[in-house]
Amino acid sequence: MKEILEYLQSYRGRPLTLMEVCGTHTAEINRNGIPGLLPSGIRLVSGPGCPVCVTVTEYIDRLIALGKEPGNIVVTFGDMLRVPGSQQSLSEARAEGCLVKMVYSPLDMLKLAESDREHTYIFAAVGFETTAPVYAMLLKKARGNGIENIRLLTSLKVMPPVIDWICGEKRDSGIDGFLAPGHVSVITGSRAFEGLAEKYGIPFVVAGFEGGQILAAIGALVKLRGTGKTVNMYTSAVTREGNRKAQAAVEEYFEPADASWRGMGVIPGSGMVLRKEYEAFDAGSRALMEDKERNKGCCCARVLTGKIRPCQCPLFGKVCTPQTPQGACMVSSEGSCYNSINSLFAENG
Ligand code: SF4
Repeated sequence: MKEILEYLQSYRGRPLTLMEVCGTHTAEINRNGIPGLLPSGIRLVSGPGCPVCVTVTEYIDRLIALGKEPGNIVVTFGDMLRVPGSQQSLSEARAEGCLVKMVYSPLDMLKLAESDREHTYIFAAVGFETTAPVYAMLLKKARGNGIENIRLLTSLKVMPPVIDWICGEKRDSGIDGFLAPGHVSVITGSRAFEGLAEKYGIPFVVAGFEGGQILAAIGALVKLRGTGKTVNMYTSAVTREGNRKAQAAVEEYFEPADASWRGMGVIPGSGMVLRKEYEAFDAGSRALMEDKERNKGCCCARVLTGKIRPCQCPLFGKVCTPQTPQGACMVSSEGSCYNSINSLFAENG
């Protein structure tokens, strides 16, 4: 650890911008005060790695509309409750009678649906490659147990196409290396990033989640700058091939699709939707291709693509706070703006 810190702090090369694309990395980088340990020539930016942050307002609106229909109950993780829709959040809608239940695992919904056949239970199926296998398992168990009163409203994203989009056709993103997402890589394997690394001539390093592991990965990115190499430094959980069983389960139920990302628009091939043969379980996910920003001043898209830091958004800390979030980056504990403002609070006591 001491050696890595000395190496990083002695860096005097050209300025580097490194991006992490995993919400847990964002949270851990801030929790460990890593930006403050780096010299001015190494800048860390947070990419679109928080699934809640990249969910479009149209999706929240649709969930609320479903929860207000008689006979429906929306089921969700807690972090979705406060995400702003175009008019209100799920939490605000619940106060007006929209039926919403919070669970800790999608599989909890099976018990609810099995014991209450009078209602249709609709899960807010948001997530990346990491969460998709759980939704596949949910559907498999539901079919196996004859539970038909469940639906998924999916907003499932896959990581390589959005990284490709950030790097851009003009290769002018200004990103010099990526901390590849640890959880996603467990499922996809590190090879999912090899093509991107070669295409753009920048390194990708798969990192674990402890402060020391993240620092070591940053050190590796600095050493590998200018190369198109992919290195796996999280070998206790990630292989080159990934989890083939989980990949097969996802392929059985889901197929690739275009997806809409908050503030970024539709990115081809960056999502997953239920296959046609399982569309009886779909609550209308394929129609969600719009992105109506709630607050036009919100710079989530520029924050999520590393163009600006959260504190450069004119609303940061003024209109937009964790108590009054204007964009999803301020809602989730994995969001860039939420973590930046919490770091500031911690620094200033
Ligand atoms: Fe959006 Fe708030 Fe972040 Fe600005 S500070 S980008 S308004 S979430």
